Amino acid sequence: MKTLLNIEQAAEFAQVKVVTVRSWHRKGQLPEACRMADGSGRHRVYFTMGAVESLCRATCPWCGSTFKRVNLRQVYCRDACRKDAHRMQRQSG
Ligand SMILES: [Zn+2]
Repeated sequence: MKTLLNIEQAAEFAQVKVVTVRSWHRKGQLPEACRMADGSGRHRVYFTMGAVESLCRATCPWCGSTFKRVNLRQVYCRDACRKDAHRMQRQSG
């Protein structure tokens, strides 16, 4: 069975702010699993843990290690990798 997370839980799981999860959802980067009405009748969006996890987890193209992204623009696991990769691009280009 899939574990469903609401926005707050997804944010906690991904170690990001709730607004970040909202923006992922709004941009279609994080597909919603379902919507359910809460006690007050408002519909809340839920995500699968797997969807959140795959969005946050990335592989560094420079050193090949997996890491947890804090934002989706992050490509490299750390600054050193980013700098090295950019330096190499400049040399080859
Ligand atoms: Zn790296």
